[in-house]
Formats: sequence, structure tokens, C-alpha cells
Amino acid sequence: AQKRYAAIRKEPAITLCGQRIALHMNAGLMAELPSLESSGAEGVGLFRTELQFLVRSKVPRRSELAALYARVIDASDGKRVAFRTLDIGSDKVLSYMKPQEEPNPALGWRAIRVGLDRPGMMRMQLQALIRAANGRPLTVMFPFVAQLEEFRAARDHLLRELDREERLGRVLPERVDIGAMLETPSMAFAPRQFFEEADFISIGGNDLKQFFFAADRENERVRRRYDTLNVSFLTFLEQIVRRCDETETPLSFCGEDAGRPVEALCLAAIGFRALSMRPASIGPVKHLLRKSDLSEARAVIDAARATGAQSVRPAVMDWLRRRGE
Ligand code: PEP
Ligand code: MG
Repeated sequence: AQKRYAAIRKEPAITLCGQRIALHMNAGLMAELPSLESSGAEGVGLFRTELQFLVRSKVPRRSELAALYARVIDASDGKRVAFRTLDIGSDKVLSYMKPQEEPNPALGWRAIRVGLDRPGMMRMQLQALIRAANGRPLTVMFPFVAQLEEFRAARDHLLRELDREERLGRVLPERVDIGAMLETPSMAFAPRQFFEEADFISIGGNDLKQFFFAADRENERVRRRYDTLNVSFLTFLEQIVRRCDETETPLSFCGEDAGRPVEALCLAAIGFRALSMRPASIGPVKHLLRKSDLSEARAVIDAARATGAQSVRPAVMDWLRRRGE
């Protein structure tokens, strides 16, 4: 199988029906960047920046962060890297931040909520990103946005930092794309302005699914209880695709499910055109996509839905088996 994936490494992920699907990789460490080349990913769809904060015993310095981000951009060789601002809280606790006594940390003071309430660290990180870009394009996305005003407030911080850096005489990025992660169900129902104002949207499928089903992603007992290919969840995702299509907002899906070939195929069938996953998943996902016709997959999904099935998985698996996969 490894050989089979190596052979298509440089080939695009084009389905039998001619639809191109962009496959990006998730990363969080400098050491993972070589996978960009070896996996054949088109870019880094999610760069989790919290690791550099988690492994230290005190707040990293801006210059350290800028140097690290610059190395990440250097190593990406012109491919796009979506830097996600600090996503801490919940399960990711910094040793140098006062621990919060929270009854429900996953629903608590985390990610952009911390960034907006204590903007010092987020602003420092944004400055480091601007400096790292040093005239090159910069892509920033904000995690765990749950309402439009949070996205606007975070974006304003970035715009203010850009102004400030300009006043300091620094080279600004060639362009800045500012996106949001959609990982709370509320954002699927956000005002149209959210979809218009975000330069792109990336679904954090791990969190979105946990909140959609009210099933803790960390709890083995409930984690696998709800299938990603559950009809309600797919219908929900499809609505997000439709809203993004209406405003022509680039949309990607970047949870663990994007790296599972059958899930990836179904996501493509309901309209996703970009997926981001761990590097090792790119080969298997690309392999299946290249052998699949999305309208056929879509017909199988729709037929299963019409029967009132809980999940489309059995029907899709059956279809793949009949095709000899
Ligand atoms: C997600 O929630 O799906 C996601 C990509 O982010 P994380 O797993 O880091 O929460
Ligand atoms: Mg998340």
C-alpha cells in the first residue's frame, strides 16, 4: 500500500468525475514540516500553535516565536500555512497560567475566549506572525469562535497589530487572510455577515461533532457512540457547505475525520472541496478519491438518507465493497 500511495504523491486528488479536492496537512511542530513534501500535501491547513506554549515553563518570547514561525514559513516553500492562534484551555493547560477551576472545561474559558479576555498573549503572537511573514503572505485563523462579534474582535486585534507594525516601519505581509474555525454549532447559524467577512472557514470537526452530539471527544465511553456519517450530522455539515457556497467563502474540514478515507469521500460528496488531515492520511484519502465518482457517492448517501437510516455508513461501505474496494 505504501508504494501505491508513493506513486500518486505528486498527483492531484481528482475524482473520477473530474472534481479536484485540495488535500492539506495538519501540523504543530517544526519537525513535521518535511511531511509537506513527502505526503504531497498542498499546504498546511491547520498549524496548531499551542505546542510551543505547552512545552515551555514560561511564556515564550515574541522573538522566539517569530523565529519559529519564520522557519515554518520558510520550510513550506511558498505553500499556504494556516496558523491557528493559541487554542488553550479545556484539555490544554499552560503551566504558567493560573489553572481555572471549571466544572466543564471543554465548554469553559478556552481558545479565543482567553485570547479576547487577556489579549496580551494573543497580540504578542500576532506580532510574531506578522514579523515572521516579513513580506510574504500570512494566513491566520481564530479557534473556537462561537459568535460573529468574537470573530470581529479577534480580527480587529490583528488589524491593529498590522497598523502598529507598519508604524514601526516593518515590512507587512504581502497579503493577510483572516479566517475562523467553525467548531461550535452556533456558527452554522451565524448571520450572513460572518460568512462574508471571514476570508475562509475551517471546520474543526473534532469539536463540532462533540458539541453537535453533546458527546465528550475525550470520553471513550461516548466518543464512538455517534458516527460522523450520522445522517443528522451530514445534513448539518451540508448546510454549512451551502452557506459558504452562497457567499463564496472557501471552506475546509480539518478534524480527524477528514483523514479517514470513507469519511473524506462522503465529505467530498456533500460538497467539501478542501480537507486537512495528518500527513499519513493523505495517500489513503487521495487513493480512494481518485477512484470515486462523487455523484455516485452522493446518490448512495441520498438513498440511505431517504430510508431513514441513522448513518449512511452501511450503505456507503456496501457500495464500496460491491465496487471491489
Ligand atoms: C478540531 O476541533 O477538529 C480541530 C481541528 O482542532 P483541535 O483538534 O486542535 O481542537
Ligand atoms: Mg478544536
